[in-house]
Amino acid sequence: MTTDPVLDTPPASLKPTAASAVEEEPTFMLGSPMAIVDGVSFSSGDNWTNWANTLSATPERLFYPNTLEDLQVIIREATENKKKVRCVGNGHSWSGTAVTQDYMVSINNMSKIDMPVKGEDGGWTVTIEMGVEVKELDEFLRKHDPPLALASNVMPTDIRYGGILTMGCHGAGLDSRSVSDTLTEITIVNAYGELHIYSEADDSEAFNIACINLGLLGIVYNATLKLTPMSQYRLRAIDSYEPLASYFQGGSEGGLKLKELVLSNDSTEILYWPHDKFLQTDKNKHFWLKQWKRTQDPAESHVLEKYKDQAPTVDHPAFAAFKVGEVVKEIPDTLHFDVTGEGEGTGETKLFDASAAFKLLPDFSNFVECFNELLEKNYEFSTSQFPERIMTCLEVRFVRASRKLMSFFYDAQADEEEAVYCVINVLGARDTPGFVEYSQDVLAGWIDKYNAKPHWAKLWEQIPGVIPSLRREYKDRLAVLNRVRKTQDPFDMFVNDTWRPLLEERKD
Ligand SMILES: Cc1cc2nc3c(=O)[nH]c(=O)nc-3n(C[C@H](O)[C@H](O)[C@H](O)COP(=O)(O)OP(=O)(O)OC[C@H]3O[C@@H](n4cnc5c(N)ncnc54)[C@H](O)[C@@H]3O)c2cc1C
Repeated sequence: MTTDPVLDTPPASLKPTAASAVEEEPTFMLGSPMAIVDGVSFSSGDNWTNWANTLSATPERLFYPNTLEDLQVIIREATENKKKVRCVGNGHSWSGTAVTQDYMVSINNMSKIDMPVKGEDGGWTVTIEMGVEVKELDEFLRKHDPPLALASNVMPTDIRYGGILTMGCHGAGLDSRSVSDTLTEITIVNAYGELHIYSEADDSEAFNIACINLGLLGIVYNATLKLTPMSQYRLRAIDSYEPLASYFQGGSEGGLKLKELVLSNDSTEILYWPHDKFLQTDKNKHFWLKQWKRTQDPAESHVLEKYKDQAPTVDHPAFAAFKVGEVVKEIPDTLHFDVTGEGEGTGETKLFDASAAFKLLPDFSNFVECFNELLEKNYEFSTSQFPERIMTCLEVRFVRASRKLMSFFYDAQADEEEAVYCVINVLGARDTPGFVEYSQDVLAGWIDKYNAKPHWAKLWEQIPGVIPSLRREYKDRLAVLNRVRKTQDPFDMFVNDTWRPLLEERKD
């Protein structure tokens, strides 16, 4: 196939998005001339970095498709030239899942949103292409008549659905599980360039795998998500700064208190930073508690203004926008907030994030034990090389088990589906010395002690002994994934170095 170098500057739609425009290092280092193959533009030899600027790659071709037909052209090119293909959205992942030296496909121009549909059961769904950003869908659904929303979602608004769905991302909604758990249909272009529509009715096992497919079944074209009418309820967001001692004093008392709170809320989230005052080493004896409760009360505007000068004042730059208080908001307005500094979407502080989930005991005592140990370790880490390691933070959400096989909080026992999992994030500013080793050792400890599983999109590849442990724990699920995958990609076109060690069929 011949290609024509025709464009020497990227089309306007390929320029960095509003979010990346404010960054000192844009995700796509556009510079080399653009070429076109059968109407699909691509650049060659450009350097790609992820959002956090912790990963880079120089793919042979970086494609910018606009249509379904464009995706099929890319697959045909990859087949002819025997190349690997990995997609990329806004590069907000820390694992090497998007990385390839062959063909990288930016799905950012594929952002069509269909009109929402009301099903026979009265439930609403929407079909979207995978380049749609969280904020774009939120705004589209808000303007719909009737206004609609996703019941739960990831924290930032500048992440694309391709990344959210393939990686099994989640919000804080207890009953919402992962965003992929809300899918009713997903369409993927496989290694033959064919369109495969997956649905529960058609083949429930293949559909289950397709819902969290890790980018291994092909290029996801579009997906249909379940929605909630905004008129059904609003959320009362309650922020408080609680003494650690009231929940984390050990024993089962604190765990049971926390359990009562989590089960009574739509969503619950904990944030903790190790020092009481910014640039001082005194240990923080409080944690930030965010709770969301469903309410029929009308949404209020600007109510937090009245808490503006109320204690406590958080002087930590990453949390300076936090205010103690209560406010009723529409669903999408409560789900997103920023822990990377002032500003919209993901702010200016580039982070590392290692995250893992494990099942909570009926009295939540394993979480209380784990969090107490983590507080100590994090304080020790952050204080031992002060102030270089000052910007660390811990974050926790609680979700019911996912029903999707490849979710990192899937539960194999069907009757345990109502089990609650904690998802704990260990966060640090990107330049924090020693953070990767520290966070990966912490996760290794949780894998041993609590049978924790790491979030696929975050830091997990450096966890000591992670591959044998994941192969053991996901054994039956990897067998199902491989079975479905081999029908769609017998050539391993979509397998890169992140996934190969997990997928290889060997006796261990
Ligand atoms: C500040 C910040 C906050 C975050 N908060 C949360 C959170 O609240 N909850 C949570 O679960 N995660 C969270 N994450 C992680 C984030 O949601 C995931 O990393 C997500 O995958 C990023 O989406 P992206 O558009 O940047 O995708 P990328 O990182 O660019 O891609 C992720 C993966 O998706 C695959 N992919 C994308 N599109 C397609 C497609 N069309 N077909 C096949 N494969 C595709 C890529 O190959 C890659 O493997 C956060 C990340 C950051 C940086």
